[in-house]
Amino acid sequence: MQEVKQGHTLDQARTRLLSALSPLPGHDVCPLQQARGRVLAAPLAAPRAVPGFRASSMDGYALRAADGRPGRSLPVVGCSAAGAPYGRPLQPGQVVRIFTGAMVPDGADAVAPQEDVHAPLGELSSSTVTLERSIRPGQWIRSPHEEAAAGEQLGSVGQRLSTVDVARAMGCGLRMARVHVRPRVTLLITGSELRPTGDTLAPGAIIDSNGPLLLLLLEQLGLTVVDRQWVDDDPQRLETALLTLAGRSDVLISTGGVSVGDGDHVRPLLERLGALQFWRLFLKPGRPFATGTMAGARFFGLPGNPVSAVVTFLQLVWPALQVLEGAAPELWPRLRVRLATPLRRRPGRPELVRAHLATDHHGNPLATPCGDQSSARLASLQGADLLLEIDASTTELPAGTAVMAQLLRLPVL
Ligand code: AMP
Ligand code: MG
Repeated sequence: MQEVKQGHTLDQARTRLLSALSPLPGHDVCPLQQARGRVLAAPLAAPRAVPGFRASSMDGYALRAADGRPGRSLPVVGCSAAGAPYGRPLQPGQVVRIFTGAMVPDGADAVAPQEDVHAPLGELSSSTVTLERSIRPGQWIRSPHEEAAAGEQLGSVGQRLSTVDVARAMGCGLRMARVHVRPRVTLLITGSELRPTGDTLAPGAIIDSNGPLLLLLLEQLGLTVVDRQWVDDDPQRLETALLTLAGRSDVLISTGGVSVGDGDHVRPLLERLGALQFWRLFLKPGRPFATGTMAGARFFGLPGNPVSAVVTFLQLVWPALQVLEGAAPELWPRLRVRLATPLRRRPGRPELVRAHLATDHHGNPLATPCGDQSSARLASLQGADLLLEIDASTTELPAGTAVMAQLLRLPVL
């Protein structure tokens, strides 16, 4: 039987959340070398053309294409090496020995690769060379603005700088970038049953995994956790911790205590101490989820179950953090995959099923769900590449069924 729809669908929640957010005020000017992962607050423009001169893309001989008839012998009048140009104009009928990256002398309009040239006395000592092929004007010469034209935009406002963005801008002579400030994040891990690793466990107690999980996830996404606390399900202590952490951060993320149990105080406290924007998702895993504002901070109350906490973080908190940092929220890329094995589930809520990605022998993507999909089971997230988007009413899908999936991958370059 279909579960009664309670709470927002993921799309509704994301739209409501993101429309309430705008980038935090404030910029930093920082050395490009340290700016990877930061979001541009001003465009980057090339101060000059790069490389700025015509460069050879081969080891060989620079010449005039008009002189390049096969069988013709030409005198070698000098050498142009990378960083050590020949320095004079080339006269008709001459060639200059040239290496990759070296400046092509004025007067030359082509480079003959050494493989296409016969040097009777051996390459370097030859005083004349004979061409073995015809020459096309412009061949093996890089344009002076191959990498960038003077003034060309190398990065736009809202772009998160990648390794290559940084290297290209620095290679064009830039040293600094104006970037948006980053949200300061605090973490509040709630639950009377939780103990840190290493403590002796009383019956019914468990070790906190959300603390390390969210801390590492945020670090991986380039964000800094400025403070964190662990609190039991006591309304008074929770209130103090919430207000302290909210006052120290732009974003406060809590886990646990946001459902409807007797020990769940987070949502009423958010309503009393700040403002609840919305609560509850029509989603599995991740039904208990609350967001709003408190003491000037954006607040996210994530579920206590570790898988639910991660999934709601990836679906809602990460896009929100991107908006606060001045970037367009990039969602995980979606692709169509086929199930490698049948999928059986209890219908009710739309589900994000964790799965491994492989390819069949034609190279088509295949998804294998990561075993038991309990939201308490972190093993279902271990090595997961995909979140399969399954409709609320689906009960069973045979192997080979095509489903849409989100690809959990961050860019490398
Ligand atoms: P709650 O959202 O507080 O109702 O918690 C749901 C489930 O998640 C319960 O089984 C909790 O024991 C568990 N849980 C809550 N917080 C954590 C945590 N930090 N680490 C691991 N499990 C947790
Ligand atoms: Mg709890």
